[in-house]
Amino acid sequence: MKSFLSFFLILIFSLSTLGQTMPADADPKLWAQALKIHKKAIIVDGHNDITGPMMDQDLNLATDTRGMMQLGGDPIHTDINRWKAGGMTGQFMSIYVSGNTLKTGGSMRRAMELIDVTNREIERHNDLVKCTTAAEIRQAKKQNKICLLMGIEGGYAIENSLYALRNFHRLGVRYMTLTHNVTHDWADAHGDEKRNNGLTDFGKEVVREMNRLGILIDISHVSDKVMHDALDITKAPIIASHSGARGVSNHTRNVPDDVLKRLPQNGGVIMVVFYPAFLDERTAKEQSERSARLRDQIAALRERYKDDYAAFVKAENELMAANPIYIADYKRIVDHIDHIKKVAGIEHAGIGSDYDGVPFLNPPMKGVEDLPLVTYEMLRRGYTEKEILMVLGGNMLRAMEQAERVARGTRVSADGSLMKHKK
Ligand SMILES: [Zn+2]
Repeated sequence: MKSFLSFFLILIFSLSTLGQTMPADADPKLWAQALKIHKKAIIVDGHNDITGPMMDQDLNLATDTRGMMQLGGDPIHTDINRWKAGGMTGQFMSIYVSGNTLKTGGSMRRAMELIDVTNREIERHNDLVKCTTAAEIRQAKKQNKICLLMGIEGGYAIENSLYALRNFHRLGVRYMTLTHNVTHDWADAHGDEKRNNGLTDFGKEVVREMNRLGILIDISHVSDKVMHDALDITKAPIIASHSGARGVSNHTRNVPDDVLKRLPQNGGVIMVVFYPAFLDERTAKEQSERSARLRDQIAALRERYKDDYAAFVKAENELMAANPIYIADYKRIVDHIDHIKKVAGIEHAGIGSDYDGVPFLNPPMKGVEDLPLVTYEMLRRGYTEKEILMVLGGNMLRAMEQAERVARGTRVSADGSLMKHKK
C-alpha cells in the first residue's frame, strides 16, 4: 500500500510539476520505471535549433515557451524548465548557418552571432553551464546543471579557412555538419548537385584538421559519397547529429545501411532525429503532396497579408490544420533506433531531436520535456537499462572521449614541436 501510494505520488509529481506527457495507453508501472532510468541517464541530445529564436526573437531561455511560436509560425519546443523536465544534461546547440549565405555572404558572421547569444544565455542562467568535453558533461550531471555545447551546421561557416576552423574550436565548437542542404566549395549536400564527387582535397584537409582539433565530423545533411569519404579519412568517430536510418524510411537525410555497417570499425553514433517527415515515408509523401496542392492558396495568403507577416503565419497555420497529413506517433523514433541496433549495434545509436528545427513532432510529443517517451518505448520493447543509458547519451560521451584522445595524440608532432601553420 505504501509503495503504491509513493508510486502514485511520484506519478502525480512527474505529471503535474514536470509537464511530461504520459502516453494514453501506457502501463503506469512501466512508465514509472522508465522515468527512473531516464532520471539516472546522462542525456546528450545532438541537435537543437532554439538558437534561432534566441537570436532573432531575443528569446530568454527562462521564458515559459509552451504555446509560443517562432517567427515563421512553428511551435517552440525548448526552455530551461522544459529541459529539466526532459532530463537534459548535454544539449548540443545548433550554430546553424543558412545556405543562402553562400549567395549573400555573412556565413561566418552568423555563426559568430549565434555563438555569442549561446554564451550570453549561459552567462545569465545558473542552471546552464558551457561544456566542451565529455568529462564536463559528466560533471554537470553531478551538479544538476544543463550543459550547452555547440555544433556548427553548414561547413561553409568557416568560409574555406582552416584558421577560422581553429578559432571556432577555441570558441567551443565541438562538431561541424559538413554541409546543410546546399552543395558548397568543398562538400556535396544530400539532395543537391554532386559537383565535388564527395569531398574535395580541401574538404579532406578540413576533416583531418577537425580530427586534430577534436571537432566531431557530422554527416547529417551530406551526400552519401561525403559520408564514405569522411569515414575513409577520419581517425575519430563520426556522428550524425540529427538523422534517421534509411533502412526504415528512404530519405536522403537518413543514413544508409552501407554507412551503418562501417560504424563498428569507426566508433560513430547516429543520433536519431525526431522529425516525422524524415522518420516516415508516408508523412514525407503526404507533406509534399499537400505543399503542391496548397501552393496557390499559400501564395494568395502571402499576397493578401504582405504587410502583416504575423497574420500571414496565422492564416497559413490554419490552412495546414484544415489539411492534416498522416503523422506516426513517437514509437516511430524507436523503429529507427531498432534498425541501427540491428545493423550497426546498440553502441552506435543516440538521440538528435532537432527540436526547434522542425515544424511538427510525433504525437503526443510537444517538446524537449517529452524525451521520456523515447525511454519508455525502448523499455517497452525490452531494451535493458544499460542499452537505454547508452542510447540516451552514453554512446555520444564515448565518441566524444575517443575524439578527444585522437586530438591529444595529434596536436603535437612526433618530435614534440607544435604542428606547422597550415593554410
Ligand atoms: Zn539540420
